[in-house]
Amino acid sequence: MDTNKTRVRFAPSPTGLLHVGNARTALYNWLVARHAGGKYILRIEDTDVERSKDEHEQQLITDLRWLGLDWDEGPEIGGPYAPYRQSERLDIYREHTERLLNEGKAYRCFCTYDELEAERLRAVAEHRPQVYSGKCRTVSQKDSDARAASGDPFAVRLQIPEGPLRFHDIVRGDVEFASDTVSDPILVRSSGMPVYNYVVAVDDALMEITHVIRGDDHISNTPRQVAIYEAFGWPVPQFAHLSTILGGDRERLSKRHGATSIASFREMGILPEALVNYLALLGWGAKDGVTETFTPKELISEFDLERVTASPAIFDFDKLHWLNRHYLKAADPERVLNLAWPYFEKAGLLPALATADVEIVQWFSKLVALFLPSIDRLEQLPEKAHFVFTLDARATQTNAENAAILQSETAHKVLTAFAQRVRSHDGAVTPEQFKAWMNEIKTETGAKGKDLFHPVRIALTGAHSGREFDKLIPIFEKGARLSLPVHVLSMHERIEQFAIA
Ligand code: GLU
Repeated sequence: MDTNKTRVRFAPSPTGLLHVGNARTALYNWLVARHAGGKYILRIEDTDVERSKDEHEQQLITDLRWLGLDWDEGPEIGGPYAPYRQSERLDIYREHTERLLNEGKAYRCFCTYDELEAERLRAVAEHRPQVYSGKCRTVSQKDSDARAASGDPFAVRLQIPEGPLRFHDIVRGDVEFASDTVSDPILVRSSGMPVYNYVVAVDDALMEITHVIRGDDHISNTPRQVAIYEAFGWPVPQFAHLSTILGGDRERLSKRHGATSIASFREMGILPEALVNYLALLGWGAKDGVTETFTPKELISEFDLERVTASPAIFDFDKLHWLNRHYLKAADPERVLNLAWPYFEKAGLLPALATADVEIVQWFSKLVALFLPSIDRLEQLPEKAHFVFTLDARATQTNAENAAILQSETAHKVLTAFAQRVRSHDGAVTPEQFKAWMNEIKTETGAKGKDLFHPVRIALTGAHSGREFDKLIPIFEKGARLSLPVHVLSMHERIEQFAIA
């Protein structure tokens, strides 16, 4: 194979959001193109006028760009095979239909809906496949032309040759369909609108697509498309049909299993590189059988269609979260800060980033760094860090787990000793000061470990476990001095509030 000639396409219908299944198709096509140094084409399949919407196309483009799947030819950038929107290619399809009719490869079908329905019911009654009988094949050219000229409505059908339809699939191997299960497919409806199977084959051929990589829901369409290539005498591309994606219960992945649209993953604070890595693993694996983390660059060099599996892939949210944690850790802190900010702004905890002064930004960057290791998705950050901003002392004390810890005499002693020290201390408490106090209190009360630290942590943070004190304390103390939409409690305020509650 001359790999540079590789031309693949992602051909979404703009009828809704981009979901994981289609995004994986987009990704595998992109990887094949980039691996081969070939071309990646975006083609918008909008012949379903009722359901296709501009806003869906815009959203698709936004989502693909966010994933980093750039294309070389497409509706908004053009290219040598333009236009790339099917609704703008109707003249091309019309010319090709004329050609097939003139060459006798296709014929006009004047059967009405009622006639076809009657035929179908007869087939059901006789336990035959419910396919078109080919009745209009025998209408003479003269009659056909005359009826068309007199305005009789007609569809255009492809004349399928005898014998089975075969194609090779890179994922599934050789596939064969008996021709009597396919019959003569409609290419153009009586409304004049060409059908998906027809336009997809015409476009793939004219755009010189070398590999058709798509979901296996299209596998039964493929023999019809192969027949169309053959009718035109065009070379048939290679096919690769990707397995279905299932939820944990082995049912087809759907909303029921949780978020499945690319937009919703972005809104949750999943990084695109985590999602791309995860999608790549849905039906494909590393050569060494163990590596699971791949940057897009590594994927490009490793990816190989030959290693795509035919068995269904199970979507595992936990694994996606694991990868997201991996990439959040590796990401540039400034990028993470910019991505995290809107969640806090929306929660009313931070001002708009553009209006925030540098001190607030620096303080927030420390807060993000501290809480990042304890989240799967950025959207969880405000909740994790909420106690930094506000703390309900009464709720803290009545929480059953806390109450059990606080009721002991040791806890009481520790907290009294701690409160005394905070109260008699002027200015901000430093982590060093805090450490020194805790050592003193240890000696004074004899409490150590959990008995010493849990009551103090509950008073300061509302829970007995959490992030390191030497990082938390400066965040409290510095935050209390900033002018934020929600006042951050200082160590003093935390202790006062706790004592009163
Ligand atoms: N427009 C089709 C879809 O969204 C694409 C099918 C294909 O790739 O051939 O399912």
